[in-house]
Amino acid sequence: MLNTVTLENVKVNAFLVNGEWNIDRLCEVVPYEVVALILKIPLQLNVQDKILFKITANGKFSFKKLWELFRHKEEINHVYKALWHNTIPVSYSLLSWRCLKGYLPVDTRLWNKGFYIVSKCQCCANIESIFHIFINSTLAQKVWNHFSTLAGVDVSAFHGDLKDMLALWFTKGKGHIFNLLPILIIWYLWKARNESKHEGIKMDENQIIANIRNKMLQLISVYLISYKNFKHCNALADYLGINAAAANVEMGRVRIVYWVKPNFPFVKLNTDASVGCNSVGIGGIIRDHLGNPLDLFFGPLAACSVMSAELQSLSYGLERCLNLGFISVNIEVDATSVIYAISEDKDGNPHDFYTIRKIKSMMNDLSCVISHTYREGNACADWLAKYGAQSTTLQNLSVINLPSPLKGMIQLDKVGFPYIRHG
Ligand SMILES: [Zn+2]
Repeated sequence: MLNTVTLENVKVNAFLVNGEWNIDRLCEVVPYEVVALILKIPLQLNVQDKILFKITANGKFSFKKLWELFRHKEEINHVYKALWHNTIPVSYSLLSWRCLKGYLPVDTRLWNKGFYIVSKCQCCANIESIFHIFINSTLAQKVWNHFSTLAGVDVSAFHGDLKDMLALWFTKGKGHIFNLLPILIIWYLWKARNESKHEGIKMDENQIIANIRNKMLQLISVYLISYKNFKHCNALADYLGINAAAANVEMGRVRIVYWVKPNFPFVKLNTDASVGCNSVGIGGIIRDHLGNPLDLFFGPLAACSVMSAELQSLSYGLERCLNLGFISVNIEVDATSVIYAISEDKDGNPHDFYTIRKIKSMMNDLSCVISHTYREGNACADWLAKYGAQSTTLQNLSVINLPSPLKGMIQLDKVGFPYIRHG
């Protein structure tokens, strides 16, 4: 850091004589140890001085690096980490995070803010606190017990706060139902509390349990969770009508996947994205009811998340459909999260807000259906996206001169060639 205390307004060249350091002059101004350091600096009088930043490899100043140097980094907390995953709707994760942080407008929190109100919770005659609503009330306990019994999570000796409860549930397996379910419990407890407070609907544990179950079924129906998320959790899977036996077999399932031709007058749009360490690409293909290609595109993107890339690919594919006058479109993507993001009534992730809005508006102008296919059924778009990641500009490919691997894949899709999918 720069020292702002200076003796007088002197320039460095006042300490130079005949192109060398003037040691006597230096000694008058700075302590000897410092003089020794200065003397080590090789002089190059014919070049411009440069200010360099010590911490970065290239010497350029970086606020980020500076901040990293000063910040005190906490150890990663697994409870907080497990709150965020693409099987969990972001608004739900956010609510749980606010809960853990104490950022919810419950009565005890309003007291701390200086609002003196009489507190009475919505479920019994207690004081309303986050601990009461989510953990300690008889109603909350019934909900937790219902699901922990089903899931085989032992909470009998539990006497902690919400964070301890989550730590008891959460597992390291990403996307596991044990990481999702507690977050749904928090969401529906809070929803019931709000409906009671603002709409006078009495809190009812059976209703809350039913809501949680329905939400899980809904997530299953859009393939956001499947039997894979229920490893070693048969009772809970049975409760939702999922074949959990399959979840316990590591390499169990083999599935046959086809690309299916659209019915006339529909065309089919397949889009995909490829996100690697150094490159991101998008690609897509529009084919007619005979399986013949009508339009193909591929191109690079600036570094972004998988979700953003998938959405941008879909957005561009839809733009092509509109420009080319294809108004009846079957859309197929291999990312369920994309279908989920654009099917939700909400605006979605702020990151992709404008892309999602654009996709929805274009879909309104088309007669279209979007559905999920496995990666194998999306092979051509997958190939184009990878090709796009290696290219320099977004471009359309002439259907006449197709690269031979792609041509082969289109031919295979056309004859209904089955792809084998493991797991
Ligand atoms: Zn209560």
